[in-house]
Amino acid sequence: MKKLLVGFIFIMAFNIGLADSPPQVITTGVTQLQQQAITPEQVLNKLKAGNQRFTENKMNHNDFSQIRKNTASGQYPYAFVLSCIDSRSSPDLVLDQGLGNIFVGRVAGNIVNKNMLGSMEFATKHSGAKLIVVMGHTDCGAIKGACEKGGENNLKTLLRGIYPAVKTVSSNKKINCQNKADINAIAKQNIIDQVDNIYQDSNTIKQLVNENKVMLVGAMHNLTTGKVDFFYIFKKPSN
Ligand SMILES: [Zn+2]
Repeated sequence: MKKLLVGFIFIMAFNIGLADSPPQVITTGVTQLQQQAITPEQVLNKLKAGNQRFTENKMNHNDFSQIRKNTASGQYPYAFVLSCIDSRSSPDLVLDQGLGNIFVGRVAGNIVNKNMLGSMEFATKHSGAKLIVVMGHTDCGAIKGACEKGGENNLKTLLRGIYPAVKTVSSNKKINCQNKADINAIAKQNIIDQVDNIYQDSNTIKQLVNENKVMLVGAMHNLTTGKVDFFYIFKKPSN
């Protein structure tokens, strides 16, 4: 009996230890003070922690009626996430960010164009976001479509934005568009390309990055495990 009791106490202590990590009850989005105080690296850690909660099925409990009350008068998101339109790769969910924490831009193949850059400029320079993430995912239909030079009409135009990544990967090895590893390699290259495009094509964001006010990051979301691998940190060219 004594032995059982000791075992029970040990299990309770162990459970309490685990309970130190979230889920927490969330009653507001990022506040103005929090947004001002946080660094880009700390924002990245917040997104990593959110993804860990997602993969472990321990997501925060969002009290949406309170969050609505507390965010209706203004928003102070700390990040912008550009993702694919894939129904399984929603940034708010896979990074467990509730309401009022992140701007999200979505387009097939998570490619950057002028409208997306304009949105990112609004999110950073005008609204204070400190981190821009380009998040692609495994098994992406848009990447496969670009690899096969498929699509028609406007879709064809969109997929052309991924051609440079197809070209880069196929210049190193013979690629097979039916092979998932090859598609994922192109997806990864496309993420790097799009992060670089943001810096090259937006003078506004280039300046913010040069001043260390904004950080650019590339990430790959694994649809099977749920894990988001933040594998690419953009480094500004040294003069
Ligand atoms: Zn996709």
